[in-house]
Amino acid sequence: MKVLGIESTAHTFGIGVVDERGEILIDEKSVYKPKEGIVPTEAADFHRENSSKILEEVEKKINLEEIDLIGISTGPGLPPCLNYGLKFSRKLAERLKKPLIGINHCQAHIEIGKFLTKAQDPIILYVSGGNTQIIYNNKGYKILGETQDIGIGNAIDKLGRTAGIKFPAGPEIEKIAKQGKFVLLPYSVKGMDLNFSGVLSESIRRLKSNKLEDILYSFQEVCFSMLAEVCERALAATDKKELLLVGGVVQNQRLQEVLRRMCKDRGANFYVVPKEYAGDNGVMIALTALINWKEEKRIEPKANPNWRIDSI
Ligand code: AMP
Ligand code: MG
Repeated sequence: MKVLGIESTAHTFGIGVVDERGEILIDEKSVYKPKEGIVPTEAADFHRENSSKILEEVEKKINLEEIDLIGISTGPGLPPCLNYGLKFSRKLAERLKKPLIGINHCQAHIEIGKFLTKAQDPIILYVSGGNTQIIYNNKGYKILGETQDIGIGNAIDKLGRTAGIKFPAGPEIEKIAKQGKFVLLPYSVKGMDLNFSGVLSESIRRLKSNKLEDILYSFQEVCFSMLAEVCERALAATDKKELLLVGGVVQNQRLQEVLRRMCKDRGANFYVVPKEYAGDNGVMIALTALINWKEEKRIEPKANPNWRIDSI
């Protein structure tokens, strides 16, 4: 069995193919990089312009007639991108005469993380552009805590944009932050939930009066400490012994260091999805389509911009 997955929820248009054991056969993608923040219709136009080129690259490597199943990420995401991805995948499914199923983008980040790290039953920290959630599995995925305002990645990118750092700002902020010293910024954890807008707006305000490296360093320290606090409480409350990091922001080495140390102190195993599959990609959609198909979970492919993982 070969499964093809299509990712088109936000900035990335990707196509991945896996075989029945989950072996990765193909991973092609193009990423829209806006000068300012993401403009949803612009991102969808970018995907419209690049999707046939991506499919051509895939066809150079595999005969599409060998594909048995197609998965498309149908949410959460930006409506214009979801709609274009659906149109593209319906056309492909009709052409190949193969079934098409809808895949939750968040589940896909988790499944590829579990598959590649071999974590068994972890607390999952999902940190990406638009999402920040602490999740675990208890007869289905449940959300233990989450951001009450913006996703950590978007906060990082917005701070970067204000400081003149281009999108995606995470890697450059991480580099500059290494030179910084700590200044106190607002820290906001409420029970199991997090707020990033306070630390973000105070950081933006203090860019005028403080050194850039000090603000970037302190912003990272405060946000990552907030994440560590909630993850530690999640481990304690559920008595689980594994923490798995998924999503684009986990490429940050300082975030990994803070959480690795917390896990070590608690005797928990620490896992991070490999860098190449941390950001959005088609492979994770293909892999999740394979897993759901085997479990006879067949979700109708229709756009679901606010699709929460705990509703599956
Ligand atoms: P995703 O939405 O999962 O594709 O992740 C994209 C987000 O990851 C963007 O907001 C990036 O700024 C962020 N990101 C990427 N690399 C890093 C890094 N090294 N440190 C912090 N954030 C990062
Ligand atoms: Mg994502």
